[in-house]
Amino acid sequence: MRPPLSELERVIDGDLVAGGELTTDGVPKPFNARFDEAIPQAVVRCTSPGDVAETIAFIRRHRLRSAARSGGHCLAGRSTTTGILIDVSPMRTVSVDDGTLTIGAGAVLGEVYAEAIRHGVTIAGGSCPSVGIAGLALGFAHLLSAPQARKAVEARDRAVRDLLDAIVDERARAGRPGGPARSVADAMLDRQEALARAELTWLRTFRSSIGKIRH
Ligand SMILES: Cc1cc2nc3c(=O)[nH]c(=O)nc-3n(C[C@H](O)[C@H](O)[C@H](O)COP(=O)(O)OP(=O)(O)OC[C@H]3O[C@@H](n4cnc5c(N)ncnc54)[C@H](O)[C@@H]3O)c2cc1C
Repeated sequence: MRPPLSELERVIDGDLVAGGELTTDGVPKPFNARFDEAIPQAVVRCTSPGDVAETIAFIRRHRLRSAARSGGHCLAGRSTTTGILIDVSPMRTVSVDDGTLTIGAGAVLGEVYAEAIRHGVTIAGGSCPSVGIAGLALGFAHLLSAPQARKAVEARDRAVRDLLDAIVDERARAGRPGGPARSVADAMLDRQEALARAELTWLRTFRSSIGKIRH
């Protein structure tokens, strides 16, 4: 049975594309071409945390498959789905206030560096300009080993802190301290935690500045 997508379309500010209108133009492509052929049932181009919350509520109500995508660099295809694709790339504002970087979930690393550097601050995020900040921050990426990253990132929510700890434990058990494992995002989905607004604070940045990541 087709989910009543018009129900979701009515309550979000961003665009929803599906059926004959479906296009992934403007949505970051999966970096791993192996996933090119997985076509989502619908793409929700979220412009705010409110859009994300409505989309997740809709997905749960109708028990649909889904994935969230920021920069699309997940090599394991975890941001690819044949269900509902939650595209956060329209949420890409980067601002700096008194040394604090506030970054939308869809900003890519190159944009973050460019804006941060204009204000004389930066974060230790690596070198690939098209990596999405959400996947990088939630998955700890591969720049730091998980225990190092756990010390570098602080989360305001207890639930997110617990998940960060769980990821470190999971990687330690797998014997791959810095290697790919489930991202915090996947763990959150497994545990049905609210994903719409998690806030992480990056404690170690150059020039003692503090980078804040909101998503
Ligand atoms: C070519 C290449 C270069 C790389 N270079 C670097 C580098 O320089 N530095 C570095 O640290 N890492 C690097 N990485 C690793 C990269 O940080 C991780 O693969 C990261 O998870 C990619 O994030 P993304 O947002 O681009 O990917 P996506 O595929 O969009 O997302 C990755 C995961 O996060 C989830 N997710 C995305 N957005 C959200 C959201 N808003 N809320 C909840 N979950 C979300 C997805 O569902 C998926 O599980 C590189 C990877 C590749 C393939």
